[in-house]
Amino acid sequence: MTFEEIKNLDEQYVMHSYGRFPVALDRGQGATVWDVDGREYIDFTAGIGVASLGHADEGWLKAVAGQAAKLAHISNLFYTEPYAKAAQALCTRTGMANVMFGNSGAEANEAMIKLARKWSFDKYGKGRGTVITLHNSFHGRTITTLAATGQDKFHNYFFPFTEGFRYADANDMDSVEAVAGHDVCAVMVELIQGEGGVLPLEKEFVAKVADLCAKRDWLLLIDEVQTGVGRTGTLFAFQQYDIQPDAVSFAKGIAGGLPFGGVMANEKCREVFTPGTHGTTFGGNPIAAAAACHVLDRMDSGFLAQVEEKGAYLRAQIEEMGLPCLGRTRGMGLMIGVEVKEGWTNRDLAAKLISSGLLVLTAGPGLRFLPPLTITQEEMDKGLAILKSTLG
Ligand SMILES: *Cc1c(COP(=O)(O)O)cnc(C)c1O
Repeated sequence: MTFEEIKNLDEQYVMHSYGRFPVALDRGQGATVWDVDGREYIDFTAGIGVASLGHADEGWLKAVAGQAAKLAHISNLFYTEPYAKAAQALCTRTGMANVMFGNSGAEANEAMIKLARKWSFDKYGKGRGTVITLHNSFHGRTITTLAATGQDKFHNYFFPFTEGFRYADANDMDSVEAVAGHDVCAVMVELIQGEGGVLPLEKEFVAKVADLCAKRDWLLLIDEVQTGVGRTGTLFAFQQYDIQPDAVSFAKGIAGGLPFGGVMANEKCREVFTPGTHGTTFGGNPIAAAAACHVLDRMDSGFLAQVEEKGAYLRAQIEEMGLPCLGRTRGMGLMIGVEVKEGWTNRDLAAKLISSGLLVLTAGPGLRFLPPLTITQEEMDKGLAILKSTLG
């Protein structure tokens, strides 16, 4: 089908909940993708941080196809090896105690919020279900995770929202203390606010939040849906913050392109969910779990060191270009935010770059780059050249 044919079908039969860019993508290899007319693009998005090993990765394909040929789905009423192995890999590499799998980031956060509330209920009873989150955060699109998201623009249309969330300012302990109360059970944060604009939390602030959680017997919940699974140069971003969270959610990059996610709990919270208290039909699906096992296997220390190096290279190159519309870069590893200067809008710049052959994302008022972690030197340089020639 041609682009126009696909677009017309989409216009007629698909709900208009997305403002799509005018490109219909057809196939990919590594960090390069091609549209239906055969035009090439360098991918600095990885499908919003999902295709962590790039497109059509050989080892990933083998893991997925092998499991699909064996057993695609059988439900959580039975044990399967990929589920158990993916859980083991995550726990042994993070110091967490156990895991529950779901299918997306919002669902992972929903599970993490349920875990926190039930942990508190089991210990203290009713009336202690409030979760403190941060302004400018993003935690998902379900009614509850929208409520958890600390941005007013998301608190519209869908009333009534789930109650039990209060918002504090990032990097401001006074503001956290100001919303504390006897009804609080947990604090939930992204260590780098992703959708909010690639804004890393200060280490000192995170350490103080962790101290306050310990003092008040609140759980420290970390949303690593975007920062997790190698994206920042360590398997999880919290490993660069000198903290051991009570629970960590993850999704996006975990299965290298398949819907998968979940929540890890520490020793204190390992027995919170008992049979019947939480569940999902698809969660831990054997194909996605087998893909996750492969993704985690590939992310050894050498792989993670390269993520760090590639991120540093891209940032240095972008800053050196001194493009008139772009300011400073920030982030960790291959999670990169670029400031857009006054007079330009990120959406316009993104549209220009995409039509010039470089797929990019926006975040907050800036641009955001989340390339596949396997991106090659050649692909990075091609992407940088497009950036320079398009915005220079
Ligand atoms: C993307 C994202 C989510 C939501 O994940 P979905 O898979 O879209 O439900 C939640 N939290 C963070 C930090 C995210 O980046």
